[in-house]
Amino acid sequence: MKLLQNKVAELFENGTINLMIGFKEALTKQPVPCFIEKASEIEQLIYTKDCKNNLSVYLHKPEVKQAGKIGILANIATLRALVQLTSENQFWDIEKTVLTVNDKEEVIVFSDMEEVEAYVQANFPEFSEEDLKLLDYLESLSREDRWKYWTEQFSACIKCYACRAVCPMCYCPQCTVECNQPQWIKTSAQTTGNLEWHIMRAMHLAGRCINCGECGRICPVGIPVHLLTVKMNQDLFKEFGTKSGFALKGDYALNSFKPDDKEGFIK
Ligand code: SF4
Ligand code: SF4
Repeated sequence: MKLLQNKVAELFENGTINLMIGFKEALTKQPVPCFIEKASEIEQLIYTKDCKNNLSVYLHKPEVKQAGKIGILANIATLRALVQLTSENQFWDIEKTVLTVNDKEEVIVFSDMEEVEAYVQANFPEFSEEDLKLLDYLESLSREDRWKYWTEQFSACIKCYACRAVCPMCYCPQCTVECNQPQWIKTSAQTTGNLEWHIMRAMHLAGRCINCGECGRICPVGIPVHLLTVKMNQDLFKEFGTKSGFALKGDYALNSFKPDDKEGFIK
């Protein structure tokens, strides 16, 4: 841990960063995000395999952006999110320094996003076994039973929007669910409106979700909401060979079209 803390202290001292987003210990087993603004706070900084949060979500926050020069301690999911967000031109207004700790516990300070991209491509994670198991189970159901499964799951949704808040790919300044003129989606938690919310959310994330699983992990009522986008990512890879959070100049399936596409509606 000392290596990491020393490296971050160096970045503060030489003026590379004036805010560090990282992890600190908590009462729970899982470390929690922390925001370090001065060298005297660096001792709380840790990194372990239990550091699961995708910290890239904080780079959208105005109060974080105003720091200007931001360091971020990234696990592989965060690195993927940074690659995807860079491909979506989301970091034009901040200077960021990206760090990670590899399997040999070496601290890596990336000099640019091309280095992050190369690291991600060399360490690209598989889908989690737990997710694949549940997806296989859902695939084995009839269409009617699958529909029943998801409508039951969504009827439990309390529309707290924690799944949206935690997602680095949900960064619109105003979400469609908060528009009331016209009101596309009912604001109260009820089965029909809940279904619309989740379908809308999944479609906006198709081919952009980087499978961090944060939305499913954070849901207070235990809906495995991340499986919708994981499933779409699987299908997009199968149909188009694309992977989200993989390349800075990614040819993402829903961002591009071919003039000679066999589907006429595209013209
Ligand atoms: S976190 Fe769970 S309960 Fe909250 S809006 Fe998302 S799916 Fe619904
Ligand atoms: S897994 Fe969930 S939180 Fe993570 S990028 Fe995909 S939709 Fe967002």
